[in-house]
Amino acid sequence: MIKKLTAGKEILKWATDNGVAVGAFNFSNMETLQAIVEAAVEKRSPIILQVSESAINYMGIGYVTGMVEVAVDTAEIPIALHLDHGKNFDICKLCIDNGFSSVMIDKSSSSFAENVRQTKEVVDYAQKFGVAVEGELGILTGIEDDVRVAGDNSLFTNPVQALDFIEATGISSLAIAIGTSHGLNKGKTACLDIDRLIAIKDKVSNFPLVLHGASSIYPDITDICNQFGAIFRDASGINTSDIKAAISHGINKINIDTDLRLAFMAGLRRSLYQTSESIDIRMHLNSARLFTKDLVVRKLEMFKVS
Ligand SMILES: [Zn+2]
Repeated sequence: MIKKLTAGKEILKWATDNGVAVGAFNFSNMETLQAIVEAAVEKRSPIILQVSESAINYMGIGYVTGMVEVAVDTAEIPIALHLDHGKNFDICKLCIDNGFSSVMIDKSSSSFAENVRQTKEVVDYAQKFGVAVEGELGILTGIEDDVRVAGDNSLFTNPVQALDFIEATGISSLAIAIGTSHGLNKGKTACLDIDRLIAIKDKVSNFPLVLHGASSIYPDITDICNQFGAIFRDASGINTSDIKAAISHGINKINIDTDLRLAFMAGLRRSLYQTSESIDIRMHLNSARLFTKDLVVRKLEMFKVS
């Protein structure tokens, strides 16, 4: 167990009680973890640290929980540790058994009945340990698939089904599809279906709703990447005004991964190019860490949780 880790449900309650969104940031190494935590401490904001299964495979689960234990021990803010996009019961169980305070089971690409069945299986296990479970209903497109939902909202979350899903599974939060997508190219005309969000929130009342694929892909950051060797053409994200509208209409957790990766790459690329004679790994990674921290501060200010 990780001492001083905050329960996922407690952080979600804080967000719903205050009508704000908690930032949930993906980390993939010590530097990104430190950047997220330093920014949150500076803004005095509760946060959710999260890892994907591939990030766990990269770091090793012992390093994930070990580094997070050090972080929560030194940071005097509420921090939860969450599994992002668990694809089956086994990975969720592994994380729960290793002390995570929140997990996601994502069976959104399965049938409604199968999604309910597998999500409930995780909830039944998680609740023995007081661990929060996030489910997902509706389909987001992204880097793993070629499908585009532009002009076709048939894959978006159905408000009536959302309430049925929450009641049938006993989840703690629900990720919904209202027009966001994962990855670097969300489409120039990407916009959120706020009317659908309002309808969902109306059905589920104060239940915590989660937005994935919500990175803004800031031009000032992609420009630095491109200036120092990247080729990010047609990169586009979600407008900050859309994000703010989503929060004011009931989004309580916002996942950020792509913007964080871009900030890290901008800092790293600039350092490698500008001091190309240096083999000081720490100097280069520190530059990446500082860029990442600034990005997290920017997000926390936008989420109005400072
Ligand atoms: Zn996601």
